Amino acid sequence: MRKISDYRHIVGDAVIGELYQKAKSLYGKRILHINSTFIGGGVAEILNNLIPLMNNLGLDVDWRVLHATPDLYHLTKKMHNGLQGESISFTDHEKRLYIQASENFSVYAKIDHDLVIVHDPQPLPLIDFYKKRQPWVWRCHIDLSDPDMALWDFLKGMIIRYDLAIVSKRDYSKKDLAVRQRIVAPVIDPLTPKNMPLSGQQIFHYLSEFNIPRDKPLVTQISRFDKWKDPLGVIEVIKKVKQKIDCRLVLCGSMAMDDPEGVEIYNLVNKKGKDLIKRGDLILLTFENTFLVNLLQRVSAVILQKSIREGFGLTVTEAMYKEKPVVASNVGGIPLQITDHVDGLLVEPEDYQGAADRIIELLKNPEWGQKLGKKAKEKVQENFLITRLLRDYLDISYNEIIQR
Ligand code: UDP
Repeated sequence: MRKISDYRHIVGDAVIGELYQKAKSLYGKRILHINSTFIGGGVAEILNNLIPLMNNLGLDVDWRVLHATPDLYHLTKKMHNGLQGESISFTDHEKRLYIQASENFSVYAKIDHDLVIVHDPQPLPLIDFYKKRQPWVWRCHIDLSDPDMALWDFLKGMIIRYDLAIVSKRDYSKKDLAVRQRIVAPVIDPLTPKNMPLSGQQIFHYLSEFNIPRDKPLVTQISRFDKWKDPLGVIEVIKKVKQKIDCRLVLCGSMAMDDPEGVEIYNLVNKKGKDLIKRGDLILLTFENTFLVNLLQRVSAVILQKSIREGFGLTVTEAMYKEKPVVASNVGGIPLQITDHVDGLLVEPEDYQGAADRIIELLKNPEWGQKLGKKAKEKVQENFLITRLLRDYLDISYNEIIQR
């Protein structure tokens, strides 16, 4: 298990020393994180990495996962879509089902912690089923800039009971929400199997284990099969690229447990990419493997993230940290990470030709890609490593538990 001191050689002693100092006043304080899945997607990724390190700093941090059913996942996916701007409607039955999941959880899970942090909308109603004796924080990882208004109003009725709401970007904070709000950008962990350096020998080994050919440059998008990640658009883009220069597309997306639309989108991708698949020019990978993600982000010539909406986009951060040129949509959290033509390339999500042109340029001029990649790593090193998130959570915990 990783320890805080393992990060000294990456971020330096001053950063690590500050974390130890900040943790002192929180020794023994009990913090609970609650979300809706332990695997798949950015939130599970962050909690898996964050929680052991907070415990290593001397706090007592627990993680519980909402007991969810496929019905609930359908509903909360719809909610996710609604928060990201799709117009949706909820029946009273659906609202009851949503609230019921939290009520059921409350019968099984005792909460006597000093601070409760609830992630995203799925477990949001929990606050109504506990005697509230401690501060509760709602951490939203979704782009809230243009939500379905009826849905937002419904959720606001619950959020308003929370002590603090955390969003990933200034544009996501809400003027009409009468709760203190704080901006905290997500991060990656440089020492996990997903991000740690791989030796030449390991790369060789995993390439053959996962059966990834390298006779052509790889252009890769790593994302859940989700309409907001626009995998069908990615296929359009690659078809345009291939008119000018040969390459192979890899779409890697494990199925997140709380994302019921994955299979449906995967089938559409399979259908649309049929000819490319037949010629071996589209590889679809659907199993969860962190080494595979690491490998693909290292061996690809270009990493693509053609999202239509993107709360933050950890896949972008991960690739940037590996010094890869990333071509990504100018939406949500992506421009927070990429400065266009400095440490990556931004395109508008509907500009398929623009995305194809950027990829073609990078495939023709790999030295340019290397330059962008070097700058990209510096950006992540400076802003988006887990030690920064640990500091943010220590500050939030101090403010909420000690100073309240
Ligand atoms: N991921 C993965 N395997 C996959 C697809 C995605 O491990 O096949 C990981 C990816 O590396 C990243 C996270 O899932 O750490 C996705 O986070 P992001 O913020 O990009 O998108 P989200 O899924 O949360 O919308």
